[in-house]
Amino acid sequence: MLIIGGGCAGLTVALRLQQTLRTRLRTGQDEITLVEPQPYLTYHPLLAEVAAGTIDPRHVVVPLRRTLPDCRVLTARVTRVDHAARRARIDAAAPGESGLTSELHYDVLVVAPGSVSRTAPVPGLAEHGLGFATVGEAVSLRNHVLEQLDLASTTRDPELRQSALTFVFVGAGYAGVGALAELEDMARYATKGYHNLQADDLRWVLVEATGRILPEESPELADHTLAELRERSVDVRLRTTLESAADRMMTLSDGSRFAARTLVWTAGTRPAPLLNHTDLPLDGNGRIRCLPDLRVAGPDGLPLAGAWAAGDCAAVPDPGAEGAPCAPNAQHALAQADLLAANLLAAAAGQALRDYHPDRPYCSTSLGVGRAVAHTRRGQLTGRRAWWLHRARHLRRLPSPERRVRILTDWLLAGLFRREVVSLGSVEHPRAEFEAGFTDLHPGP
Ligand SMILES: Cc1cc2nc3c(=O)[nH]c(=O)nc-3n(C[C@H](O)[C@H](O)[C@H](O)COP(=O)(O)OP(=O)(O)OC[C@H]3O[C@@H](n4cnc5c(N)ncnc54)[C@H](O)[C@@H]3O)c2cc1C
Repeated sequence: MLIIGGGCAGLTVALRLQQTLRTRLRTGQDEITLVEPQPYLTYHPLLAEVAAGTIDPRHVVVPLRRTLPDCRVLTARVTRVDHAARRARIDAAAPGESGLTSELHYDVLVVAPGSVSRTAPVPGLAEHGLGFATVGEAVSLRNHVLEQLDLASTTRDPELRQSALTFVFVGAGYAGVGALAELEDMARYATKGYHNLQADDLRWVLVEATGRILPEESPELADHTLAELRERSVDVRLRTTLESAADRMMTLSDGSRFAARTLVWTAGTRPAPLLNHTDLPLDGNGRIRCLPDLRVAGPDGLPLAGAWAAGDCAAVPDPGAEGAPCAPNAQHALAQADLLAANLLAAAAGQALRDYHPDRPYCSTSLGVGRAVAHTRRGQLTGRRAWWLHRARHLRRLPSPERRVRILTDWLLAGLFRREVVSLGSVEHPRAEFEAGFTDLHPGP
């Protein structure tokens, strides 16, 4: 079996199968190969807390080899799938390298490469924008925000100070709202350490093209979040787009223009680009067409033999939404992966397959220390109780008991000591100091 992607869906499928097929995997009767470019799973819903510094970056990733000792884990990228020939091409090269491609043959395919950020041809975005989908980006954004406070506190240039203290986020889904709210909370706290900065000097702007924030949440909870952000002086611009970020000058569709040294792009996702290089049928949004039992649907609507899919890349009908595809979120990805593994085993044993009937989505978003919004079975929660619930839910969902303990320890320690708000921006230029030594040896003319 070949599993593409070691994220929420891919890792969970492999884990469940490993638990059931351990002896067969160890004796070589079955073989599971998981291909993933990173040697770890990234648990995205907790990235905002990494940016805020309440969770150690290493604790939101789950190492694949240690978690899957009975599977073959390849740190590589699948670049093409020819399912008719049961063949996949993989590339183990780092970005910029070439010549490390090979071919893999399989009997059963599980496709779970997730989604990627949807970018737009906005002038200046490629040069000045920051993404927020990887651990590296979360750490880098944290360092960047803290560096802006240092810069604003040090400079005597009022324009530079103003642009350093202006933070723009584009896209108000849970990635954008969560990251902005956590960083605003962290930066507000950090200003206490500066003699010449006040929390009110910071300007946070959230730009959203549609008429509401948090489309994943109920309208009431989204409205509450909007009210809380505005109460915290976040400038939320609905039905507005970013037209240009050239020279770090933000131009919005409502006509406003202002300088900002921080631009974070979280404006939606699209299915993983790999899907355009397979012979698997896609729906109008570029996701793999799936049957409710998670088998891939062929062009005739019948199951395609030996092909399964789950997670963000899969258009799985949601019975609760009149058959529209499930929203791309971690809750669906994890639940679909559980069912996919069970159905795979049932199919092998000649038993009936079950359809995907998700629980009502119980979303939640953390908005800083002690603040969150959350859906519950009985309604909605806000404030500290929602925050505890949000943390408990994600601890339970995280597919690694060891990581759960580590994150719990991070939270306990964060409660005991003062928040850590020092920028380690120098780790992004580890050779700078060393290279400066050579400049001193050979001073220019
Ligand atoms: C910042 C952020 C915050 C989020 N917050 C929430 C939240 O609060 N609640 C919630 O429910 N959801 C949240 N989500 C969405 C959630 O993380 C995803 O819906 C979920 O991870 C989807 O699981 P998946 O397995 O389909 O994809 P992923 O978990 O993204 O895993 C896909 C994996 O496939 C790998 N891959 C991609 N291409 C290839 C290839 N060609 N070959 C091999 N491997 C490949 C990728 O490297 C990746 O590791 C958030 C997402 C982000 C980015």
